[in-house]
Amino acid sequence: MPTVVRWSFLAVATVVDLVACTPAVRQPLTPADYPRTRPELTRYRETSRYADVRKFLDSLRALGAPLSFGSIGKTSEGRDIPYVIASRPLVSTASEARRLGRPIVYVQGNIHAGEVEGKDALLALIRDLTFSSKPNVLDSVVLIAVPIYNADGNERLAPQSVNRTEQNGPEMVGVRPNAQNFDLNRDYVKAEAPETRASLGMFNTWDPDVFVDLHTTDGSFHGYALTYSPSLSPAAVFGGVYARDSLLPVLRERMRTRDGFEVFDYGNFVSDEHGAIADTSVHEGWATYDSRPRFGTNYYGIRGRIGILSEAYSHDSLARRIASTYAFVSEVLSLVAEKGDAIRSLTARADSQPLAWGRSPDSVQMVAIRSELVTTPRMMDVIKEDLEKTGDSSLTQPGVPRGGRRTGRFRTIRMPVYDRFTSTLDRTPPAAYVVAPEDTAVATLLRLHGIRVDRSDSAWTARGESFTIDSIITAPRTFQGHHEVRLKGRWERGLQTLPPKSFIVSTAQPRGELVVYLLEPESDDGFTTWNLFDSGIKKGGRFPVTRIFDLRRGRAANRRSSAATTDPLQN
Ligand SMILES: [Zn+2]
Repeated sequence: MPTVVRWSFLAVATVVDLVACTPAVRQPLTPADYPRTRPELTRYRETSRYADVRKFLDSLRALGAPLSFGSIGKTSEGRDIPYVIASRPLVSTASEARRLGRPIVYVQGNIHAGEVEGKDALLALIRDLTFSSKPNVLDSVVLIAVPIYNADGNERLAPQSVNRTEQNGPEMVGVRPNAQNFDLNRDYVKAEAPETRASLGMFNTWDPDVFVDLHTTDGSFHGYALTYSPSLSPAAVFGGVYARDSLLPVLRERMRTRDGFEVFDYGNFVSDEHGAIADTSVHEGWATYDSRPRFGTNYYGIRGRIGILSEAYSHDSLARRIASTYAFVSEVLSLVAEKGDAIRSLTARADSQPLAWGRSPDSVQMVAIRSELVTTPRMMDVIKEDLEKTGDSSLTQPGVPRGGRRTGRFRTIRMPVYDRFTSTLDRTPPAAYVVAPEDTAVATLLRLHGIRVDRSDSAWTARGESFTIDSIITAPRTFQGHHEVRLKGRWERGLQTLPPKSFIVSTAQPRGELVVYLLEPESDDGFTTWNLFDSGIKKGGRFPVTRIFDLRRGRAANRRSSAATTDPLQN
């Protein structure tokens, strides 16, 4: 009966509109009035579909929840990626948020869409914080929640045994990549996916102090409800170190004592991950993953902010994974609220440091552009669960290999823990990099990363360095549609002649470290890696990005040679 259907749709739409204009929450709401997430409605047998997320958010809106709703952008299949802003008082723009003078925390669920509990935990948490009449973290932070980041991947449902082989349900889950088959958590440097571009837009506009990315682990049988990681890049000198040494140890303690969850630094047993560490004589150890900024939380650290990776334990039930993720995000928000002044001052220092480079060359700090896992691990206690053989090929629990059974016997074993990276190549930031005029895609991508790029009108000369390419190492296998490139070569000083319309990228700007990381030819995850310079490089040739030591002297030379020059320090 299509007429009836249309009527009910119209009626609902009208009610939602009217209620959305009502400023106050209808009081008193009791938990019985709250909208329920799909897991809550199905005894944790199912995760939310895209339509469920939209419906849940619409229900919050219909109840007059004091939240700002929006879309960060569209997926490649045209779905809006919803966001929700929660704070008291409510804000709806970045400038309003900044005026509150509080930390801004951006929490993202579902980047790998089979890893479902971040999405469902985040929805429940927004609801509970928003409808609570008691003082809570929303009085001290601005929360930006993006529950269903990989919305297209979420809709490609298939059995967990296909899409998430090492996960304990739910029965139907989405896929890891987006609809273009990009792994969004390898896309933060090259930013090819519309989802990544949308999230970079949010980062640039809102400039959150903290970014939390919610995942599920991939296999090792350990004894932790959740594992976490700070930004692992040694270039994340502000947010990475602060999160590792000042936030995560406190969170670990609070998760244990206040929430009843044992948590630890993210990793896998060395025995489960062949080649995780270079020392092949180590058979028992615990090793973290990667330091490169293709991963969101590493990237966010190089932007001078705090990035926190959260990985719920894939062998826990969905209900427990939602509970541990809910507790972890709650504790992050609460700790960030308590440390608000320190975190905001860290943000300010991260931004002002590269600005000081421009004023005083003595203040320039080296930027680590390549790194390796530490070779001197710390000895720590790690909890491991014993598995036993069933003697046949039966499946005892979804996500447990056939013929294996969990025992519930946990052992604490002292073992080497490889939880951090050390720099293997540092570079001193020049005053600016100059990019060849034809590399417009490079300039566009830099701007997408929130980096200021200027352009010179005429040819000019300046003291600097150019890079001669000695070798080009191209990965034989494709990764994310690319043959990654690594360059070796040498920098040589001299007077650089720069053609008109060159792009000038000063390092004396917030995100100066990121400028260095993306543009240095030997970076382990820069634009060179992702083929942006492929057409302009050849063995024995010059790399199409030049280092300039002093923009002002370059300008003076410029004045002598040309009257019509753009001052590259402006804009
Ligand atoms: Zn993941």
